[in-house]
Amino acid sequence: MSPAAEESEGRIVVVGSLNADLTIYCERLPLPGETVHGNGFAVNPGGKSANQAVAASRLGADVRLVGAVGDDSNGEMLLSSAAGAGVDVAHVRTASAETGVAVIAVDASGENNIIISAGANGTLSPADVAAAADVLDGAAVVTLCLEVSTETVLAAAQAGHDAGATVVLNLSPYAEIPQRLADLTDVLLVNAHEASQFLGSAEIPGSDADAGDWEAVRLRFAGRGLQRVLVTLGANGSVVLDSLAAPDQQLVQIAPVKVNAVDTTGAGDAFTGAVAARLAAGAALADAAAFASIAAALATTRKGTQAAYPDEDDVKRVLA
Ligand code: ADP
Repeated sequence: MSPAAEESEGRIVVVGSLNADLTIYCERLPLPGETVHGNGFAVNPGGKSANQAVAASRLGADVRLVGAVGDDSNGEMLLSSAAGAGVDVAHVRTASAETGVAVIAVDASGENNIIISAGANGTLSPADVAAAADVLDGAAVVTLCLEVSTETVLAAAQAGHDAGATVVLNLSPYAEIPQRLADLTDVLLVNAHEASQFLGSAEIPGSDADAGDWEAVRLRFAGRGLQRVLVTLGANGSVVLDSLAAPDQQLVQIAPVKVNAVDTTGAGDAFTGAVAARLAAGAALADAAAFASIAAALATTRKGTQAAYPDEDDVKRVLA
C-alpha cells in the first residue's frame, strides 16, 4: 500500500490483465511486410489492468488486482512491479500458461502499435472473480478492460454492481460487448477510435467542437443504455458526457495538458487508473477526468508505462 493509501476513501478492485511489454523504439513504424531498424529495446511490466492498478496506487489509492500470470520470469517481474507500486496482488493467480506478452513498436513521435498474446490472462475466469469475493465486497470502484474474456468481465461487473461499487469499463482493446455489460457499466471510458467503433462509425467530434456537435454522440451512447462516458482524445484532451439520459445532461470538455510526449503507450491506462483513484476518493466525474488528464499527460513524458506513471505530488505540482 502506498503511503497516501490510508487517506483514500474507498477500495479499488481491478480485474483483468498483466502483460510483459516487449518494446522496440524505432524512427518510424514498419509498413506491412517491411523491416525497419530499431534503436532500443526494453522489457517492461504492462497489461492494461496492471497498468491501471499501478497508476491508481501511485496516486494514493488502495488497490487490489485480480488476474493471472505464468510461473516464469515475466510473471515474477509483473508481480514485483505491481507490489512495488503498492498494489495488493494476493488475488493474482499463477496459471499453468505463459505470462501474457505485448509486442510494442514506438516511433519517434511517440506513436505506437501493439500485438498481444493473452497467455495466462486467457485463463482468468468467473471462478477467479468468485474467489475474490472478499475484496469485491465493499469495493468502491471496480475497474475493467477487455484484455480478458468477456464472461470474466461480465462476472466482475456483476459482482461490482452487487457490491454497490462504481463499475468503470475501459472498452479496450475494442470488442463488441453484450448489452448486459453496458447495463452494468457506470462509467464507460473510451478513446476516440473505440468510441466510433462502439457507436458504429459515428463521427467523433474534434477538440474544437461545441456541445451541439456532441449531441449525436450523446444520443447514441444513451441509446446503448449508458449514463456516463469519458471520451479521451489523445493530445487534444478529453470529453465528459454525464447523466446522458437527462435532458439537462452535462458535457464538459477537458483541455489538453501541453507536454513534450516521448511515449504515449499506456496513456489511456494512466488516465483510467487516475479516474478510478479520484472516484474512489469521492470526486465528481468531471473533476476525476481533469485530474486524470494531468496524470496521463505526465505519463507520456517518460518512456515505458508503469515506471512512467506520476505520483500524487507530481500531479499537484502541475495543479499548483
Ligand atoms: P489511449 O492511450 O487509450 O489511446 P488517448 O490517446 O486518448 O488514449 O490518451 C488518453 C489520455 O492521455 C488523453 O485523454 C490525454 O489526457 C492523455 N494524453 C495522451 N497523449 C497525450 C499527449 N501527447 N499530450 C498530453 N496528453 C496526452
